Amino acid sequence: MFRRNQTLSFRRCSRLISNFPQRVSRRIHATPSRRENAEPYDPRSVERVEDEVDVCIVGAGPAGLSAAIRIKQLEREKGKEVRVVVLEKGGEVGSHILSGCVLEPRALHELLGPPTTYADAYGSEAPLGQPATSSKMLLLTEKMAIPIPHPPQMNNHGNHIISLSQFTRWLATVAEEHYGVEIYPGFAGAGLLFSEEPDADDPWIGWEGQWGNSITKIGSANNAPTSSNKVKSVQGVITNDVGISKAGFQTSNFEPGMIFRSKVTLLAEGAHGSLSKIALSKYNLRKESEGPTYGFGLKEVWRIAPDDGSEGDGRYKPGEVVHTLGRPLDNSTYGGGWVYHMDKGLVSIGLVVGADWSNPYRSPYRDFQKMKHHPYLRKLLTPSSSPNTYTPSRIAYGARVLVEGGLQSVPLLHFPGGALIGDSAGFVNIAKIKGVHNSMKTGMMGGEGAFNALNSSEEDSTEESVKPANLSSYTEAFTKSWVYDDLHEVRNMRPAFNTRLGVFGGAMYSGVDSLLLKGRTPWTFRHTKSSDREKYMNATPSMDSRHTQKASRHKPIDYPAYEPPLSTDLLTSVSLTSTNHEEDQPEHLRVATLREYVREWYGDEANVLGEHAKGSDETESKTHEGLLHEKQKRRREHVQKNVEEYAGLLGRACPAGVYEYVEDETGTSPDGWNGKKLVINAQNCIHCKLCDVKVPTQDITWTVPEGGGGPKYTVT
Ligand SMILES: Cc1cc2nc3c(=O)[nH]c(=O)nc-3n(C[C@H](O)[C@H](O)[C@H](O)COP(=O)(O)OP(=O)(O)OC[C@H]3O[C@@H](n4cnc5c(N)ncnc54)[C@H](O)[C@@H]3O)c2cc1C
Ligand code: SF4
Repeated sequence: MFRRNQTLSFRRCSRLISNFPQRVSRRIHATPSRRENAEPYDPRSVERVEDEVDVCIVGAGPAGLSAAIRIKQLEREKGKEVRVVVLEKGGEVGSHILSGCVLEPRALHELLGPPTTYADAYGSEAPLGQPATSSKMLLLTEKMAIPIPHPPQMNNHGNHIISLSQFTRWLATVAEEHYGVEIYPGFAGAGLLFSEEPDADDPWIGWEGQWGNSITKIGSANNAPTSSNKVKSVQGVITNDVGISKAGFQTSNFEPGMIFRSKVTLLAEGAHGSLSKIALSKYNLRKESEGPTYGFGLKEVWRIAPDDGSEGDGRYKPGEVVHTLGRPLDNSTYGGGWVYHMDKGLVSIGLVVGADWSNPYRSPYRDFQKMKHHPYLRKLLTPSSSPNTYTPSRIAYGARVLVEGGLQSVPLLHFPGGALIGDSAGFVNIAKIKGVHNSMKTGMMGGEGAFNALNSSEEDSTEESVKPANLSSYTEAFTKSWVYDDLHEVRNMRPAFNTRLGVFGGAMYSGVDSLLLKGRTPWTFRHTKSSDREKYMNATPSMDSRHTQKASRHKPIDYPAYEPPLSTDLLTSVSLTSTNHEEDQPEHLRVATLREYVREWYGDEANVLGEHAKGSDETESKTHEGLLHEKQKRRREHVQKNVEEYAGLLGRACPAGVYEYVEDETGTSPDGWNGKKLVINAQNCIHCKLCDVKVPTQDITWTVPEGGGGPKYTVT
């Protein structure tokens, strides 16, 4: 695995095309001066070198790495050489990974065998942290923490409390050193490469009707037969160009991205992946399931005891897993907190807020800071009066959206030339608040599907035409797997909160379902009313954004003042993430709908997003000035709607202070409205994807920044 600022050698890539440079390097961060060339940047006119691979995996998280390892295991078993490349936008594997994290190790055991064998087999023990020893659920009232029964799904016997960031780093070492997977950190997938002509069958052939009725169990929205037209297949991934100035010109440091032309492309980007959104829309993969819904998780890691494993002054209870309900959230907001006692004197604490919160004045960051003022957490995180007390300190902060949609929101998994694995599709079991096991297992099944597809497409291809890989065997395998059973059992628990039962009734229903019914009911709750479902059938708009109500229906929330070091202002927390981005680059938070962004990047929008997503017929290319005016107009409209109707929601929702609606001092800014304008501090972005999910106008599209930019998580 290559690390930040290391030179990337492609000597191992035996099948590189001849004009590919022997050694290329990818700058990760700010370079002192980047002179602008006169050339406006147009991604469509950039010449890129190509590298041919068998399988290109986007994302080195649990799903992507499990897929890569599984393919290489099959390579050894079947004696067929397969070149597997994994692209990772973080400067190092794990640096963009954030999770709770209690690991259910079932998939890990299936992939690599029992952990006792790893030291011999792979040269090092897996960082499996602390075995979970006990689990409890607490209801936090204003002053008290009342124990309440927890659902059996939250039993953590046999699980491990880990740092997922550290675990994926170890898994990457195994993948690379033991199995020969090529992993390229600092290389972000910026675009999908499509075939020039339609060359594949619509992925819905053979699945239509069945997916909705028998798999996601929500009934088919559209029983019209699939068009028999051929569609274009995915033929690889385009990595991001670097060296573009903020104003949109190529600088003297311009380096074009590469094309990884692959027979199979696996999207393993985690929740709300930027390329996954395009694939979901292009192939209409949510046609028979519901739109995605998310939770928003904020996390801190604190040291509350010495790192020698001793229990310090008694408050550190290694292995204890605590979940909380109630404070700081009100009765109308879904969510809850956690306290996981890790190894080496550390605790992971966090709060998940359902991203469907309605009050635009809510600040999940302030909610999280307030949660630490509760006597239960205050006692844990502040020194006691005992002379032997240990002074706790906060060592990490971060945030990320997590998938909450469950079985109802699982899209069709394969598309011509590839598939969605892990949380790119969304397999979190929200009753357990766990997704790593399902991401790893779907990664493994996706890897098996990829290996089979490579073989069958080779058999079916001729000299003149190459048959795009068909990964429907992976989709089939999912329906028969334990991941399906895991999600099926709990499918009604989250949507119960959005029924007429309300949050309290939803909690009661969930309790009965988890203890007695165990999902064996003939009914399946939906996240949306069936009459509304048409609106959410492609990747956008997000269902969570639609739950946001206008500011006129709410009052500002009165949050308590910060009490450092227990609770701090936002920027103090963000500094713990060591986030960095090259400042002189276009904002990677585009004020554009997915359709507008795709038009700028790919040109022919309807072809890329699929005919069903076709909007305006405006496909002619624009001059640099024309585009600039369009961008200013979009910003102006964004400010108007978001300030006027939603009290500048993103200014409070973003966990890194990226969005500010500031006074337009001159009053003449072309992108301002009524004395206000939007400032995007993109260099602070910690890649949580909340803005893309939550903005009521659905006009923020998260895209990948220059390679390697973003947080540098180490223990999250
Ligand atoms: C707050 C929180 C708490 C959680 N708690 C738990 C828990 O206790 N137990 C549990 O089992 N699960 C938990 N989960 C869920 C779990 O973390 C996820 O299900 C799991 O990490 C998903 O794995 P993945 O590989 O699909 O995606 P991720 O872990 O998100 O990994 C995706 C990787 O892809 C990279 N990437 C994304 N886009 C691109 C691109 N375009 N180009 C290149 N690289 C890209 C990212 O940088 C990242 O490294 C939690 C999640 C959150 C957010
Ligand atoms: S800008 Fe968006 S993705 Fe970045 S930290 Fe803020 S909310 Fe998250």
